[in-house]
Amino acid sequence: MGSIGKIENNKTYDYLIVGAGLFGAVFAREATDRGYKCLVIDRRSHIAGNIYSEPVEGIQVHKYGPHIFHTDNEEVWEYVNRFTKFNHFRYEPVANYKGELYNLPFNMNTFHQMWGVNTPEEAQARIDEQRAEIKGAPRNLEEQAISLVGRDIYEKLIKEYTEKQWGRDCKELPAFIIRRLPVRMRFDNNYFNHPYQGIPVGGYTRMVERMLKGIEVRLNTEYKAGEINAGKTVYTGPIDAYYGYRFGALEYRSLRFETEVLDKPNYQGCAGMNFTSHEVPYTRIVEHKHFEFQDDSNPKTVITREYSKDWQPGDEPYYPVNDAKNQELFQRYEGLGKKEAGVIFGGRLGEYKYYDMDKVIARALEVVREELK
Ligand code: UDP
Repeated sequence: MGSIGKIENNKTYDYLIVGAGLFGAVFAREATDRGYKCLVIDRRSHIAGNIYSEPVEGIQVHKYGPHIFHTDNEEVWEYVNRFTKFNHFRYEPVANYKGELYNLPFNMNTFHQMWGVNTPEEAQARIDEQRAEIKGAPRNLEEQAISLVGRDIYEKLIKEYTEKQWGRDCKELPAFIIRRLPVRMRFDNNYFNHPYQGIPVGGYTRMVERMLKGIEVRLNTEYKAGEINAGKTVYTGPIDAYYGYRFGALEYRSLRFETEVLDKPNYQGCAGMNFTSHEVPYTRIVEHKHFEFQDDSNPKTVITREYSKDWQPGDEPYYPVNDAKNQELFQRYEGLGKKEAGVIFGGRLGEYKYYDMDKVIARALEVVREELK
């Protein structure tokens, strides 16, 4: 055991944690609490990674896209509640197809709006009629979507939105992406099935700030291999970047945000509106104040139009493109990663996985258990 840390005598830090997002923050907290000396670095000028939020006109703005915390994992829920309270927000986005509004996720309200049906039986009959065109197990997102909700909903609410979001034909995308969304035979617009849901009171940044309390953090700091004298590295950046793209670059989707402060108290009446037709170039508009139930007492509102784009070097990567080609490429990098003594890869970018926040935390806690015995 070292004099300041626990791993080796000649190291300044036990763990260098690259990335001050959720994975990095949970790992750093747990390692620190177990007596290991940690340094967290991040190339950005702030902590919290893509869940970073900052106040604008008294409204917490989700700077890198909306994040709604939801989980069915009690351990994770208790864990995050150590650092923040959550409000009772439920995500109930509205889809806008050429001016027609539909409730999401796909539920009795949507079926009523789409077909005029009033009962679950009538809705199911419509879906069954339309899903008959798919024979056998769905092989891609298009087949999966039609087999879940039928062709009408696929065409108005899924096809063009998904193609905007992923820049690919729905036949070239994996089925699991659409299985993220519930299909419900009840009048229930809650986007998630999980029992625990909400937005941190005071914002995500404050939650991560509290996780990192008392831990050394260096911002505006690029990772350079070997520069910091640490026993081990926890790397939460893109795994292909870590290896200098030696097998080629993994593909990501990136996002572009246009944020505007408006001189009106309520722009769209909901936190998220998805624009599901190709005619509108952005995928959605987020009106941030609705995450916090702010009403007319704040005469201003902040909205963000979200555009999806291909990732180019220099852009922020947001979504791993988990098609077969990229998955194979990732596995080659993962193979290198597994052999790399002294480095743990974690998080959405380090593991090239379409993780939600709760899964990132669960995975970080699992790594903690494996690593910090
Ligand atoms: N999706 C869709 N229409 C919508 C919302 C979502 O077709 O109005 C599809 C789309 O393919 C998307 C996937 O469902 O990529 C998962 O959506 P989710 O909201 O989980 O995406 P995220 O919140 O990660 O952006």
